[in-house]
Amino acid sequence: MAVNFLYPDYEVARNYDRCIACRACERQCANQVHEYLADANKMVCDDAKCVNCHRCVSLCPTRALKIVKSGNTYKENTNWSGKTINELYRQAESGGVLLSSMGNPENYPVYFDKILVNASQVTNPSIDPLREPMETRVFLGAKPQRVERDENGRIKNNLPPQLSLSMPVMFSAMSYGSISYNAHESLARAAEELGILYNTGEGGLHEDFYRYGGNTVVQVASGRFGVHPQYLNSGAAIEIKMGQGAKPGIGGHLPGAKIVGDISRTRMSPEGSDAISPAPHHDIYSIEDLRQLVYSLKEATDYKKPVIVKIAAVHNVAVIASGIARSGADIIAIDGFRGGTGAAPTRIRDHVGIPIELALAGVDKRLRDEGIRDNVSIIAGGSIRSSADIVKAVALGADCVYIASAALLALGCHLCRSCHAGKCNWGIATQIPELVKRLNPEIGYKRLVNLLTAWQHEIKEMMGGMGINSIESLRGNRLMLRGLGLNEKELEILGIKHAGE
Ligand code: SF4
Ligand code: SF4
Ligand code: SF4
Repeated sequence: MAVNFLYPDYEVARNYDRCIACRACERQCANQVHEYLADANKMVCDDAKCVNCHRCVSLCPTRALKIVKSGNTYKENTNWSGKTINELYRQAESGGVLLSSMGNPENYPVYFDKILVNASQVTNPSIDPLREPMETRVFLGAKPQRVERDENGRIKNNLPPQLSLSMPVMFSAMSYGSISYNAHESLARAAEELGILYNTGEGGLHEDFYRYGGNTVVQVASGRFGVHPQYLNSGAAIEIKMGQGAKPGIGGHLPGAKIVGDISRTRMSPEGSDAISPAPHHDIYSIEDLRQLVYSLKEATDYKKPVIVKIAAVHNVAVIASGIARSGADIIAIDGFRGGTGAAPTRIRDHVGIPIELALAGVDKRLRDEGIRDNVSIIAGGSIRSSADIVKAVALGADCVYIASAALLALGCHLCRSCHAGKCNWGIATQIPELVKRLNPEIGYKRLVNLLTAWQHEIKEMMGGMGINSIESLRGNRLMLRGLGLNEKELEILGIKHAGE
């Protein structure tokens, strides 16, 4: 008899006093956990298939369901946790690399939670955002070092191309293929309504979404999927993806099973064959090579679009960013190690890279020290969870932030971290038509607009509390931050004082 080493992580607890055997849970679960036994007129389940996505819990009309952590435990061992043992068993069985999705869930410090924001008292009065104008608009792109005038004294317009955003937030790259058509439509419509941008990721741009071009960042990744002149010219900005916080140092992989129909056409990649982006760009081995690509893309778009270079937050990120700022790029996007992904090897996601807070502070300081801070704007990403994180990121030096997991949560994601399986019960990280239909873009885009409208109000309130009426004057203003429970080195890297100082 085969021995089953692996126990289910979760158990489906059904209250039979409440269950009316309506079978809604059976219909809603794409993992086929629930089953109706007609003979017994009873629902049963196979817990081992449950990924804890809460779809059935949310749709059970009698609130009969609960997903609980499995009661099965191994003998206590601080060194060998149950999770570690289970992962080892899984690999002993499969011989394969462990895969995960969404962001790093491990217990590393979250620096945003150890940073506190200032407020004005008595002197330097606070500003009431309900009565005074508060400016959250930001412009991303290189700024000239000095104002130049022509022979008549008029200011010369020598401003490189800029992105104008109503608030310092953009939706980060999520490719069509990793997320569904309806998720993309929700993001694109919300970006247009909010006056911000969303990002194609490396999957190309579906023909239906060219109409949102003014609110789109088109990405060029190492696989060059879906990249052609019309694509480059359709967006408001072009992003060269050099790295991603969830998987620094490795490429991307979209399984052939997801390369079907429109996705295959949009990516310009054959149906059913895996779309593998190599780890490096095969034409970039130096800042000079990067410069070649930056200028090729500018040339291809008539020097009208800002070019973003996106990198993962890694050990020498400040030096790398300094090189990028000299490459001709207009904007640097830094993605911290908690950033999400549709699929990544678990060991890479959980053990490679550094937190965005430290990376951002280090990059901002280095560029200021070198006198080139205004040559580029900085976008910070990698688990921005709330308006407070945005305010702290801006004060640490960001011009703007990228959000992705937060946006997916607004669309209904329950962070089950199973996107790589392609059976997202919430219609987000899936291409299965009957699942995609579960996300109504009409509702999805409104929820995104609501979320960011609420965050914009909160940002204004925090700015008012600090006595600041323009978000641009908060950029890099670390005097507005204090650390709590951080050591000297951490405070030094963040460039902030300890609370009480
Ligand atoms: S959805 Fe709720 S009531 Fe309906 S069968 Fe499932 S557990 Fe029972
Ligand atoms: S996978 Fe999701 S829908 Fe299926 S049983 Fe588990 S929580 Fe319910
Ligand atoms: S997008 Fe879907 S599959 Fe991915 S974590 Fe969220 S709910 Fe789970």
